[in-house]
Amino acid sequence: ALLDRIESTDPALHAYVATFRESANAQAQMVQKKVDAGEGHGPLFGVPVAVKDNICVKGMTTTCGSRMLYNFCPPYNATVTDCLEQAGAVVVGKLNMDEFAMGSTTETSYAGICKNPWDPSRVPGGSSGGAAAAVAASEAFYTLGTDTGGSIRQPASFCGVTGIKPTYGTVSRYGVVAYASSLDQVGTLGRDAATVAASLDIITKKDPKDSTSVEHPDGGFYEGLTGDVKGLRIGIPTDYFGEGLDPQVKEKVLAAAKELERLGAMVEQFPMPLVEYVVPAYYIISSAEASSNLSRYDGVKYGFRAENYEDLYDLYLKSRSQGFGMEVKRRIMLGNFVLSSGYYDAYYNKALKVRALIKQAFDKAFRKYDMLLGPVAPTTALKLGENLDDPLKMYLGDIYTVSVNLAGLPGLSAPCGFDGQGLPIGMQLIGPAFGEKTLLNAAHAYQ
Ligand code: GLN
Repeated sequence: ALLDRIESTDPALHAYVATFRESANAQAQMVQKKVDAGEGHGPLFGVPVAVKDNICVKGMTTTCGSRMLYNFCPPYNATVTDCLEQAGAVVVGKLNMDEFAMGSTTETSYAGICKNPWDPSRVPGGSSGGAAAAVAASEAFYTLGTDTGGSIRQPASFCGVTGIKPTYGTVSRYGVVAYASSLDQVGTLGRDAATVAASLDIITKKDPKDSTSVEHPDGGFYEGLTGDVKGLRIGIPTDYFGEGLDPQVKEKVLAAAKELERLGAMVEQFPMPLVEYVVPAYYIISSAEASSNLSRYDGVKYGFRAENYEDLYDLYLKSRSQGFGMEVKRRIMLGNFVLSSGYYDAYYNKALKVRALIKQAFDKAFRKYDMLLGPVAPTTALKLGENLDDPLKMYLGDIYTVSVNLAGLPGLSAPCGFDGQGLPIGMQLIGPAFGEKTLLNAAHAYQ
């Protein structure tokens, strides 16, 4: 039934880049047998799922939204895919995304743009635009996305769904195409906090195949949904409500804080420093790591290979020139620049210092508060093409999300109303490391 739904509504949206009817049916039958034998367990056993196209599913093309990987068919599963299958989930397809997860609108995808189900003249956000749009359009019950600098939270906000970026290291990155390894993290999106909690339980696991993987000391997110927020100390960073924030977003986010207060939480405003430095620090660090990670695409080992090359150098040059899109090239050049010998200290090292200061600022805030609450993005969903020619403007839209990745913290995006045009607005909940339960429970109480 879900595949039929996708077939009827997705041509207008393009949230999916591929669906797997045959393998999904086979998987569903296996799951049914287990259920009949009384073996099925867990709240999402047998529930279909779809994953962002940078997550490997054995034998299924994983393009990462790029021509460079248009024919890449991984011979193995990502660890998160294994987790899903073990939990009885049926993987029905792969979801559209910005090329190599670089972008905020899902407009840089080689597969073609994805549209916002609330208003098809607008973007769904990005880079996990397909993952958010699919949930919003009832083309998936829950989805897996990745968040390097807001890519789960911002599309969740633009599409009016709930999404979580977990604490760095608590979900395996094995089999997930690398963008910026010190920031990348897989998370889940769903209609509500309960779905997101149940699905996050499935993929939260220490994995020996990922060297940055850690055991979550406070798992059992679904069980942890008490709906009780009495005494919860919530900090509102005043600097997240400054210039550039749409007044309608501000109003709805502050109204959500009031609602949590009514439910028994204690809400207080406090100054959060360094906000003007987070976007430059993020783009320096993420591009530096991307330039290194993407050096593996040389036209030789896998993926796209140009035709008619003269020698090995020419093969590299032509394959990378033709295989990567504009935004990816921009980041590779920026990354190589900030890592080059004359500029390393001035940019890359400086950005690392800013990153350390951002972490300290969060540490300080979490000595006083259990959770922070603010906007996810300065605006609601942009018009298609609105910022496409202005990368700096596009990057500034990440101002509230990227610091969470720089500090490795959990961040959740939950719908908190609509603007005057009927477009969804999201609020962001930020927790200390391993504080997912607090965020999910607060969102659940609110919902
Ligand atoms: N807008 C961010 C970027 O373009 C999103 C990255 C992400 O989280 N994958 O880098």
